Amino acid sequence: MSRSVTILGAGLVGSLLAVILSKKGYKVTIYERRPDMRSARIAAGRSINLAVSVRGWNALEIAGIKEAIEPIAIPMFGRSLHMPDGSAAYQQYGKNNEAIYSVSRGELNKKLMTVAEEAGATIFFDHRCTHVNVHTNELTFQHEDKEVKVQADLLFGADGAFSALRSGYVTADRVDASQFYLAHGYKELTIPPAEDGGFRLAKEALHIWPRHNYMLIALPNTDGSFTCTLFFPFEGAEASFAALKSDADVQAFFLKNFPDAVELMPTLLEDFRNNPTASLITTRIFPWHMGDKSALIGDAAHAIVPFYGQGMNAGFEDCTVLLGLMDEYGDDWEKILGAYEQKRKCNGDAVGELAIMNFVEMRDKVADPVFLERKRLEKELGKMFPEQFISIYEMVSFSHTPYDTVMKCIKAQDALLERVMNVPNLKTIFETAAFGDQLKDWVAAYHTS
Ligand code: FAD
Repeated sequence: MSRSVTILGAGLVGSLLAVILSKKGYKVTIYERRPDMRSARIAAGRSINLAVSVRGWNALEIAGIKEAIEPIAIPMFGRSLHMPDGSAAYQQYGKNNEAIYSVSRGELNKKLMTVAEEAGATIFFDHRCTHVNVHTNELTFQHEDKEVKVQADLLFGADGAFSALRSGYVTADRVDASQFYLAHGYKELTIPPAEDGGFRLAKEALHIWPRHNYMLIALPNTDGSFTCTLFFPFEGAEASFAALKSDADVQAFFLKNFPDAVELMPTLLEDFRNNPTASLITTRIFPWHMGDKSALIGDAAHAIVPFYGQGMNAGFEDCTVLLGLMDEYGDDWEKILGAYEQKRKCNGDAVGELAIMNFVEMRDKVADPVFLERKRLEKELGKMFPEQFISIYEMVSFSHTPYDTVMKCIKAQDALLERVMNVPNLKTIFETAAFGDQLKDWVAAYHTS
């Protein structure tokens, strides 16, 4: 291969991209702002664990590390809902027992870095990119107390939501860029393992305490603990980070709103005090590439909020799409990057929207009986018409359907479900042959719409 590749960021997406490009024969160099997390005792970043779904597994398989990750992945087959009155409900995610998988972000990132190096990539740690000249691909880094200049040939910005390459793009002519913060932030809390080392909650579920305008969620870790995340408004008189000023405020609030969780969180006050409150951003930008010189990938191209568990999965899918285009166009990077942007930009925007929509579903709708009935119907329709009816959640998490196609299906799916739910005496007639025929026609019309 004639070109050498420079990647900014050895996070999840940058490391995976390095594996893929190295295996394709490119000489790959990564510059990472932080020290090497395999030797330094540093936190792995924004969340302790994250959910891998089908798109992510596909990429890990291509990178050859699916088998290494599987043993540290905990399947979550559905949502376990914890209601304010202490009752609980369970919603299975897929009709065929599919799961999303809770994986340690740090372990996944470390493995990806090691595989990237084994494939031939070089990683320079403690190199923070401070400036990118997007016209010449000259990069400036801060390394210890020195400034280092590097001339890149083909450059990828995999340096996350606040990407240095993205900042460079924003200074160029005719670049549209936007960012949008939610009024909610998040804070991680812990449910430690039980005294015998086991799990204090069912481990094969994603736990949610939906409370309309805010929620607490918990994902299992292999050591028996759960990482909880409180998604909570920054401001507000009662239920907000601003309102919980003292330990007593925090204790009283949790006892009132999450009494069953408090029992499982002996370090609640300490965690609440010491763990950072972080913000949630969605970004968009166009273009995603500059000629055959550079491109954005992963969060650098499309930072999204975490409510569909798709940020990393979408970034990994960027990489697999890029690989497909390399197979198609060989070494013609003008064509590869143009086609990559054309295929992925619409999907980056769509998954950003889906993620915001799912926040409302998770924190509010999941506790609504009408919504639960709708979910039940979705499952029924999925079983009756498996080729024609796939729920939005299943399309996002258990298929490779492009995110923008999923977005386009939402309206039609809503209309179909509404139509079915509005049928008088639905429960009584649901299993009759006549209604079955009617449903067949409705689903066929939905499928072709
Ligand atoms: P990052 O993970 O941000 O990595 C960027 C890398 O670049 C980092 O190593 C950083 O140190 C480095 N870097 C940054 N700036 C520079 C610079 N100037 N110079 C050099 N290096 C630099 N996604 C899912 O798919 N499933 C989930 O369940 C999920 N849960 C989440 C929960 C939370 C609370 C949050 C906040 C996000 C979650 N996500 C999830 C999203 C996911 O974390 C991101 O989409 C993913 O980390 C993006 O990977 P990336 O490599 O593009 O960016």
